Amino acid sequence: MSMEGNVALVTGGSRGIGRAVCLELARLGASVAVNYAGGAQAAEETAELCRTLGVEAEAFQTDVAGPAACEALIQAVKERFGRLDILVNNAGVSRDSLLMTAKTEDFDKTLDTNLKGAYFCTKAAAKVMLRQKYGRIIFLSSVVGLRGNPGQTAYAASKAGILGLTKAAAKELAGRDITVNAVAPGYIETDMTAVLPDKAKEAMLGTIPKGRPGAPEDVARAVAFFAAPESAYITGQVLCVDGGMAV
Ligand code: NDP
Repeated sequence: MSMEGNVALVTGGSRGIGRAVCLELARLGASVAVNYAGGAQAAEETAELCRTLGVEAEAFQTDVAGPAACEALIQAVKERFGRLDILVNNAGVSRDSLLMTAKTEDFDKTLDTNLKGAYFCTKAAAKVMLRQKYGRIIFLSSVVGLRGNPGQTAYAASKAGILGLTKAAAKELAGRDITVNAVAPGYIETDMTAVLPDKAKEAMLGTIPKGRPGAPEDVARAVAFFAAPESAYITGQVLCVDGGMAV
């Protein structure tokens, strides 16, 4: 599996799963655009780590929660690297609270980043990929989007929305060698899950047949599988990387 000559954009590539995806794609030979919202230092570090693997890489600051910003991001990447072959819609936030106490602003923030951001980036990237007649789009959904989870109604809605978006876009874009797939992680050790109370972590571990959390690299390998040129006949699929959690 080689991605030499490919250009990848990973939203939220500065840390966690996004960083692992950047490094895996770089290891396979792709040039990498590392998007981030606020963490410039982490994004620069990720880009530098990619460069040490022998590929071109650069950090791009953009809050993906707006159509104009996403359009500008895709254009900037296209200008810098000349093309865009792989889009990984990874940027995400979670603002957890029970339905009865949840704030509208938290719902908006979650949907704006996780679902609308992914939608806007996909729309802008698809324009480039349709002209190229080639593309690989991968979304980060979640087991929570498939099965729900108390305290995560907004997050679950955003991640379930991603699944519909994946399948509809897969059907629209298939004719031009553009595949669209989703990876649905379970419990992965990153900053996002580090803040969970110990009780919640223990409860989650109890639902994982493998008996342990996953690592960002576990997810990155699944993303790279969908991103490969050889995966041309696989589209509209959802792959759980969850140690058996959703089975
Ligand atoms: P982290 O919280 O560790 O990292 C989030 C990343 O998203 C950071 O790079 C952050 O950039 C970026 N980001 C956040 N908001 C925006 C925004 N508005 N615009 C651009 N970038 C943004 O998350 P994880 O690595 O854990 O999660 C990555 C993805 O995987 C998310 O979509 C998440 O929902 C999903 N996922 C994670 C699971 C887990 O167990 N960890 C399980 C299932 C799904 P910055 O540093 O600049 O803020």
